[in-house]
Amino acid sequence: MKPQLIAIDGPVAVGKSTVGSMLARRLGYVFFDTGMIYRAFTWKVLKSGVPPRDEEKICQLANTTKFEFVAVQEWLLSPLIDGEDVSSKLLCPEVEEQVPLTSKIAGVRQALVLEQRRLARRGKVVMAGRDISTVVLPWAELKIFLTASTEERAKRRYRELLARGVNANLETVIGDLKRRDEMDIRRAISPLKPAEDAIIINTEGLSLEQVVDKIYALAADL
Ligand code: C5P
Repeated sequence: MKPQLIAIDGPVAVGKSTVGSMLARRLGYVFFDTGMIYRAFTWKVLKSGVPPRDEEKICQLANTTKFEFVAVQEWLLSPLIDGEDVSSKLLCPEVEEQVPLTSKIAGVRQALVLEQRRLARRGKVVMAGRDISTVVLPWAELKIFLTASTEERAKRRYRELLARGVNANLETVIGDLKRRDEMDIRRAISPLKPAEDAIIINTEGLSLEQVVDKIYALAADL
């Protein structure tokens, strides 16, 4: 029997999103990258004019925001925030800088975890993030934690940015990646860490297809 819920966690630029999306397509499931919902909400905070350090107001904002998930491909979900598709804005430097600060606020996480669980109730979902196995869906039947060295991940992100036409600098990419990892690992609530029963896959030297093959085989084995 294939698992209803597959959780994929790991640090910045380890390939969670590409692997998760390919896997969901192959299984006939849907994929959701939870980083998108933290980014979308961060974009709303920035747009609202609420000071980025006013945690109380940011929590109020989280509780009055309408989150929805729409299929952009048969197997791929994207968030709408108050009915708006903001996906084109989610990789901008302002969001990138602010997102780890928004996501360490307890009230924000509470609101967004409820949304992620609501989505998971449909079943046949692959969900990627930082705390899916440990906090959001600890009952997921298959829990994967992807790893790769900082250098390898920075190179992957650098190539991705160049391919998108962004004028990136490798040193800056490494710096940003380390800063976000540090904040995600050290935060008090839902820090980035593998669940005790997660299967750790070191993706270094593996192609995306090889990583997908490994997870697919694990899912088929359950
Ligand atoms: O995965 P991505 O890099 O898009 O995530 C952006 C940020 O959102 C992360 O650096 C982290 O601070 C936050 N995040 C989180 N929990 C998740 C997914 C993302 O805190 N499940």
